[in-house]
Amino acid sequence: MGKTLFEKICEKEIPADIVYEDDQVVAFRDIAPKAPTHVLVIPRKPIPRINEAQLEDQALLGHLILKAAEVARSLGLGDDGFRLVLNNGRDAGETVPHLHCHILGGRKMDWPPG
Ligand code: 5GP
Repeated sequence: MGKTLFEKICEKEIPADIVYEDDQVVAFRDIAPKAPTHVLVIPRKPIPRINEAQLEDQALLGHLILKAAEVARSLGLGDDGFRLVLNNGRDAGETVPHLHCHILGGRKMDWPPG
């Protein structure tokens, strides 16, 4: 199977504005931001979506969420707040089949989401 778009970003085959990376996750700015700060945090492992994650991915997913919060703080969102979003499947509006956690911040968010 071919590499996902986001695997190509991880491997620097496609350019992206990377704000954090380590051996397990990469965080980069969304190409079409939906908020003043919009960053995607992805596992290097190409899990398609949360619905297909396995028990063996538990530590990786915990790391990803903790890093998302750390990245949000590093971008100045710690005090006013931020939203973390995982879109899973068609009804949720998922468009890239490589698990990604959206960090959205810098404006007041509506609830419930549209
Ligand atoms: P989804 O809708 O699947 O939850 O989110 C996918 C996100 O990936 C969208 O917000 C979209 O703007 C972003 N995206 C799609 N292609 C690219 C790209 O090539 N580079 C970057 N940085 N973001 C992308």
